[in-house]
Amino acid sequence: MAEVNEGAETSAEIRDTDIVFDCPHCGKNLVIDYRGAGLEINCSQCGASVLVPIPDGMQLGDLDLEPGEILKQLFATRRNYQKAEMTIQQLKSRLVAMQEAVGVMNQVITEGLAEA
Ligand SMILES: [Zn+2]
Repeated sequence: MAEVNEGAETSAEIRDTDIVFDCPHCGKNLVIDYRGAGLEINCSQCGASVLVPIPDGMQLGDLDLEPGEILKQLFATRRNYQKAEMTIQQLKSRLVAMQEAVGVMNQVITEGLAEA
């Protein structure tokens, strides 16, 4: 019989700071960063808008920022996202080039061994 551990250790990806709750529409177990407390998100499974619960003892004031500051963060996040996308594309083409190089080297090694 498996031991149920109060939601802990169900996934290594859940951090202490994450908020874990169930979608009230479909029951899907959702995990969100603590900074999402009190926000409305869309359920990753059913797509319904869900209000993220605010954990006991959490000071929402700590999370509240000036609208200008939030916009700045949003823009910075979007820029970082685009940069990350570009980096992924660059890494992907590097990976392809390296895989080709490895293929060529393997061929050279195989031929070299055959001749030896
Ligand atoms: Zn749902």
